[in-house]
Amino acid sequence: MQIERIPALSDNYIFLLHDPHRKIAAVVDPAEADPVLHHLQTLDAELVAIFNTHHHGDHVGGNTKLIQHYPNLTVYGGAEDQGRIPGQTVFLNAGDQVQFSDRIGDVLFVPGHTKAHIAYYFPPQNSDEPGDLFCGDTLFAGGCGRLFEGTPQQMVTSLNQFRNLPETTRVWCAHEYTLNNLKFALTVDADNLELHNRFQDVKLARSQNQPTIPSTIGLEKRTNPFLRWDIPSLQTAVKSHDPIQTFARLRGMKDQF
Ligand code: ZN
Ligand code: FE
Repeated sequence: MQIERIPALSDNYIFLLHDPHRKIAAVVDPAEADPVLHHLQTLDAELVAIFNTHHHGDHVGGNTKLIQHYPNLTVYGGAEDQGRIPGQTVFLNAGDQVQFSDRIGDVLFVPGHTKAHIAYYFPPQNSDEPGDLFCGDTLFAGGCGRLFEGTPQQMVTSLNQFRNLPETTRVWCAHEYTLNNLKFALTVDADNLELHNRFQDVKLARSQNQPTIPSTIGLEKRTNPFLRWDIPSLQTAVKSHDPIQTFARLRGMKDQF
């Protein structure tokens, strides 16, 4: 399975999963249809599935037109998103599995950004390869999604599921927000040398219009303040000793940043 990034709208990424031998493809969170259709044409592949993480327009905006072009495709989404994802055919709960080509993905229930948000984790096929996490707007490189329909407690529980994945896991998040996220991170985790180094890397990449996605779980655990609610220096920065309160205060500060 090959994974390609298709930039969409102003800062979204649509991820295209491709099996060149079977000539099939799937997309994660198609913000728009046209760039996907164009890409499928160049690959000479048939679209067989849409994997939606949540119902927001910048993640499902391409569903209807893609279904018109490929009426037999399967549209996956969270069970609690029933009625909110156009054309949804499969309603997934935590612990369910999905398949594309020869990869099996685990469904994680990760409410917080929305009440129905799910993520897809495809474990590696061989021990020397990384797994792949499609996390929508729950975790971002250097940041996390806003809490539109969930509580800080829910979001910490959701993000903690990601923290428990292998460090090599590739993180395919749905937006190119990394540079701004790291600017905020530096304001609350100023003594983190690896964060400073990452900021320089990301600044250079963005100045050359290079994507910063995928990240890895290990890098996020070491440099993303929204996975570091139990690190003493971050708790000190927001004047709390409580993990959930630390997370909530960080999220509140970021909302104002
Ligand atoms: Zn969203
Ligand atoms: Fe989004």
